[in-house]
Amino acid sequence: MRIAIVGAGIGGLSTAAGLQRAGAQVTVFERAAEVRAGGSGLSVFANGLRALESLGLGPQFAAITDKQAESFAAGQRRPDGRWIAQIPSDSVGELRIVDRTDLHRVLLDALEEGTVRTSAEVTSASIDGTVTIRSGVESDSSKAPVGCPTESVERFDLVIGADGVNSQVRDTVEPGIGPRYSGYSCWRGITDRPVDLRGAAGETVGRGLRFGIAPLIDGRVYWFAVANMPKDASFADDKAAVRDLFSGWHAPIAELIEATPAQRIQRTAISDLATDLSTFHRGRIVLLGDAAHAMTPNLGQGGGQALEDAATLTALLAPVIETASDSTDAAAQIAAAEIDRQLHLYDRLRRRRSQSIAAKSRLLGAVFQIQSPVLSGLRDAVFTAVPSRFTAAQAASVQRWEPPDI
Ligand SMILES: Cc1cc2nc3c(=O)[nH]c(=O)nc-3n(C[C@H](O)[C@H](O)[C@H](O)COP(=O)(O)OP(=O)(O)OC[C@H]3O[C@@H](n4cnc5c(N)ncnc54)[C@H](O)[C@@H]3O)c2cc1C
Repeated sequence: MRIAIVGAGIGGLSTAAGLQRAGAQVTVFERAAEVRAGGSGLSVFANGLRALESLGLGPQFAAITDKQAESFAAGQRRPDGRWIAQIPSDSVGELRIVDRTDLHRVLLDALEEGTVRTSAEVTSASIDGTVTIRSGVESDSSKAPVGCPTESVERFDLVIGADGVNSQVRDTVEPGIGPRYSGYSCWRGITDRPVDLRGAAGETVGRGLRFGIAPLIDGRVYWFAVANMPKDASFADDKAAVRDLFSGWHAPIAELIEATPAQRIQRTAISDLATDLSTFHRGRIVLLGDAAHAMTPNLGQGGGQALEDAATLTALLAPVIETASDSTDAAAQIAAAEIDRQLHLYDRLRRRRSQSIAAKSRLLGAVFQIQSPVLSGLRDAVFTAVPSRFTAAQAASVQRWEPPDI
């Protein structure tokens, strides 16, 4: 069974690893000249861990993370450092923080050589499994083209759109649905040296401002800083802007910013999908990850949901791949019919859950980014009053997930 995956992000690469392990012939098309892990750190909760284990990547992931986040006090603090609410450690019991570069390396190492074709942009995908590929391009408009672009057309048994929030493939499944800016943007960085967190991590919430702290395995720290602003806001010096916005906030926030080289601080405008898709598949095309359900990062679940998609699709398609490997015409016909059935099941298993998490994440973002002094005071009071049992139950409902038992 020949499968094309469009996009070499977390979703595309983890799906490629799973399907290749199941016996499919997989090609990943990536428009960038090299496979890059965008962003800096990533929180992976229990559901993401289950998905990685199901994809056969549990041991490799365990080797690049540790369990220390479990022992940190976490929750929400005020800018002066007093806790608004602490979450019970068992509600984030299996949280792992990973440097995205390490995760991408693990995912790439799991693939057979030559699986990923870089500088290969998929410009169109049809429901019969045909894709048009423009090769030899660096489609990031800020970069000079590499080589002379060529165009080719290839046909696959299945095309998986894992091409992110601005997905091109999504248009073939359901045209006209695109991203919507949330009203806030996020700077992210990883310190270039260990910083003592004094046993506390989590988020600090102000008025229209938020700072998050997450320890990595080697003592370096992944941090993020969120601020309300227009989508096209620009800053002459991003590091100075973060320093100014969060000046006077509790330790070690200033130290974390200082310990991060300016060129490694990046800002992202936060968006999710303006409208939920009514299906994740059409014909021989199926969507996953941000292409299917881009969400704001307030629950730290976008990557986790992409991993769930990858594990689900792999579990559902593995028996079909096995049937297709028998090279008779009858087997090919059975496999073709089975693909449709399994894509339908994938849609049923994945769409409702991922869209409901996206909705929760959007709501949480709106609450966290409240700018009004009165309303933000009220928010903090409510957070303080909510019993931690309730918070734990909410977190558990998002993180509770098992791969389908086929
Ligand atoms: C600030 C921030 C913090 C976050 N924190 C977390 C977190 O802590 N935990 C978590 O689980 N998630 C988090 N997320 C979400 C997570 O980063 C995304 O959900 C995840 O990376 C999506 O992966 P993906 O593979 O679907 O898409 P992407 O990572 O966007 O990958 C898409 C790939 O497709 C390629 N591509 C696009 N178009 C084409 C084309 N036409 N042809 C070929 N290639 C193409 C792109 O170059 C890219 O490599 C965060 C997101 C943000 C913005």
